[in-house]
Amino acid sequence: MNIRPSRLFVCDSMKDRDERTEEEWRETLPRERYQVLRLKGTERPFTGTLLRNKENGVYACAGCGAELFRSDDKYDSGSGWPSFLAPISEDRVEERSDVSHGTARTEIVCARCGGHLGHVFDDGPRPTGRRYCVNSLSLDFDKRE
Ligand code: FE
Repeated sequence: MNIRPSRLFVCDSMKDRDERTEEEWRETLPRERYQVLRLKGTERPFTGTLLRNKENGVYACAGCGAELFRSDDKYDSGSGWPSFLAPISEDRVEERSDVSHGTARTEIVCARCGGHLGHVFDDGPRPTGRRYCVNSLSLDFDKRE
């Protein structure tokens, strides 16, 4: 099948959804990213490559390339996963109720491809009070000046 690099999917409009089948995702994503993005896995805390990244840039979905978070909104939550105060815009990230593992949480997924990002909590610092807790494996960092 035709494997396309994720960068080709970058676009400004969230209307242009990436609707690869699960089989296509399995064939196009590296195994560990597939495990998190499509099977809703969680990387072990304090292991992600982007946890301590403090460079200026944009964090894009590792599945489809949609730009999701800015370095300006990243902060150290102490949780062991990259944490953000907010997405680039509200329409980039969708929230879904998640009652797995015996707890009620709010899952966050990429609005463009449905890829699992992590969870959002209401214990973040000001000004938003929110903690978008995201797996490094769900993100690609694009350094900007
Ligand atoms: Fe995506």
